[in-house]
Amino acid sequence: MFELIFLGTSASAPSTQRGLPAALLLHREYRFLIDCGEGTQRQILRSGVGFKRLDRILLTHGHLDHILGLGGLASTFGRWEAIEGMEIYGGVWALQRVRELMRVVFGAGEARIRIGYHPIAPGVLMEDDVFRVRVFAVDHRGTEAFGFSFEEKERRPFLVDKAEALGVPAGPIRRELVSGRVVHLADGRPIHPDEVLGPAIPGARLVFIGDAGRVDDLVEQVAGADLLAIEATYTAEEQEVAAAFGHLTASQAAWLAREAGVKNLVLHHISRRYTSRQILDEATPIFPDTHVARDFDLFRVVKQRPLEREDVRERPGDEGGDRRHGDGVTQ
Ligand SMILES: [Zn+2]
Ligand SMILES: [Zn+2]
Repeated sequence: MFELIFLGTSASAPSTQRGLPAALLLHREYRFLIDCGEGTQRQILRSGVGFKRLDRILLTHGHLDHILGLGGLASTFGRWEAIEGMEIYGGVWALQRVRELMRVVFGAGEARIRIGYHPIAPGVLMEDDVFRVRVFAVDHRGTEAFGFSFEEKERRPFLVDKAEALGVPAGPIRRELVSGRVVHLADGRPIHPDEVLGPAIPGARLVFIGDAGRVDDLVEQVAGADLLAIEATYTAEEQEVAAAFGHLTASQAAWLAREAGVKNLVLHHISRRYTSRQILDEATPIFPDTHVARDFDLFRVVKQRPLEREDVRERPGDEGGDRRHGDGVTQ
């Protein structure tokens, strides 16, 4: 299961309704902050999610509307002992800009918090037994931009009945079989994993793309995703402006969703000149299962289940402990 919470859904400048780009991806104990536009700190507070374990930050690219909030966040984190450091993942240019920003915030070499800068490249960014994050390149005004694919690995269920029938005892030997290794029973009989594992069940996949100037090169990367989140800064009326600034129209984003056979499309990074309705009206004839993200929308992606959407501001904070940080910041 993945939960994607939008903290800011505006493009370039905030509006009264929309903050600057930032989103949270939650999966089991993992929390990733994706981009961190100006004002993200307060959006995190309002979301009720809290700052705990919010130390992994993925940057789609280095434009200011996606990184300026990191200065404020680092400044706040620097005053809290509970947060030891921030790990920032992004392209070389994006990381360079963040370093310069931190120099302004803290002065040369005086950051009060440890900040790890991790250049990323297409491929697997991190993985464990059941989950992986993949990175892929996105074309956006020569910024070395990236998209992120969050993937639950497929798994084969352990068939207890079959194991019992074969006399496989409970305990570590079963774990060996689950991890795909042939085992030998006490009487010397070999048991192959295929004898006790059912057919593979695919995991959920959520693809997050920020700013993008074209979509034809992304079809393969997003193919079959359960949810695709991608920018839709403009409508087709301003197709030329969109192309000139390396952004997408709602039609282009919807085209990608259709071509790639994704299940759901969520549009974000919306220009202030449009209402959600205008963006939706353009996208849905091309791809019906389209949503336009609002700040504080949570989208829950569970394999084989319909997409769920809720407003996190109505959800009580699940990190009440954060309130102990005091300083009036969490009133
Ligand atoms: Zn942007
Ligand atoms: Zn940009």
